[in-house]
Amino acid sequence: MNYQVYAIEYATRPARASENFYGHHDPHEDYAMTMSYYIWLAVSKEHTVVIDVGFTEEVAQKRKRTFLRCPVNTLRKLDVDPEAVSNVVITHMHYDHVGNAHKFPQANFFVQESEMAFWTGKYASKGHFKSVVEVEDIVHLVRENFNGRLHFVDGTAEILPGISVYKTGGHSAGLQVVKIQSEGGSVILASDASHYYQNLEENRPFTGVYNLAEMYDAFDIVRSLADESSIIVPGHDPLVMQQFPAAKSGLEGIAVRVG
Ligand SMILES: [Zn+2]
Repeated sequence: MNYQVYAIEYATRPARASENFYGHHDPHEDYAMTMSYYIWLAVSKEHTVVIDVGFTEEVAQKRKRTFLRCPVNTLRKLDVDPEAVSNVVITHMHYDHVGNAHKFPQANFFVQESEMAFWTGKYASKGHFKSVVEVEDIVHLVRENFNGRLHFVDGTAEILPGISVYKTGGHSAGLQVVKIQSEGGSVILASDASHYYQNLEENRPFTGVYNLAEMYDAFDIVRSLADESSIIVPGHDPLVMQQFPAAKSGLEGIAVRVG
């Protein structure tokens, strides 16, 4: 079962290295490091799977992000009807990954048990944790759970032939990465296990931390999933848009095909 895999960019934010690397304290080595925001899409003959859903324009304004375009509309340009999508993987529940879940009324959402437990538990309202989610996004997923639409994974699972998820934790309690079989080999969507190529290449965790030790382990997990033909796609690196060809004519600078 081979999938075509796409990365869809929908927002950006100016950032600096000191904001992107945990424990980066040297002001002389600080430099601009733009953050891009993505969702991903995997399509085979039988299945369409959306991986993360991005945030809305309203949340972009509130959080002062540069909103480029609604990622759900870009799905339509890739011939995907969001209202008919039946499989959505949620890598984790931070605001930039789950804000458009309500635009997928037919979807089953695949999420790690520990991620949902965390955001409905005692630490969700605390300082840093509270700041990286939108309450309404979490509440929506709680409702979808009662609607029977949440599919819980504890660790590793093949959710469809050719698509597996692996819990890494680290950046969030139940962060999961996704491995997808594509024509040329596997595509590993690292999501926030590696925001940038540099995090993984230099073993330098991002500043947003749930468990720092697990963030180091997550680099090893991502590497262990890859072989020579694998493509590892970081979660927030603008380079992804330059590294890969446009998804199709007309989507230059909007979506790229990564596998
Ligand atoms: Zn995150």
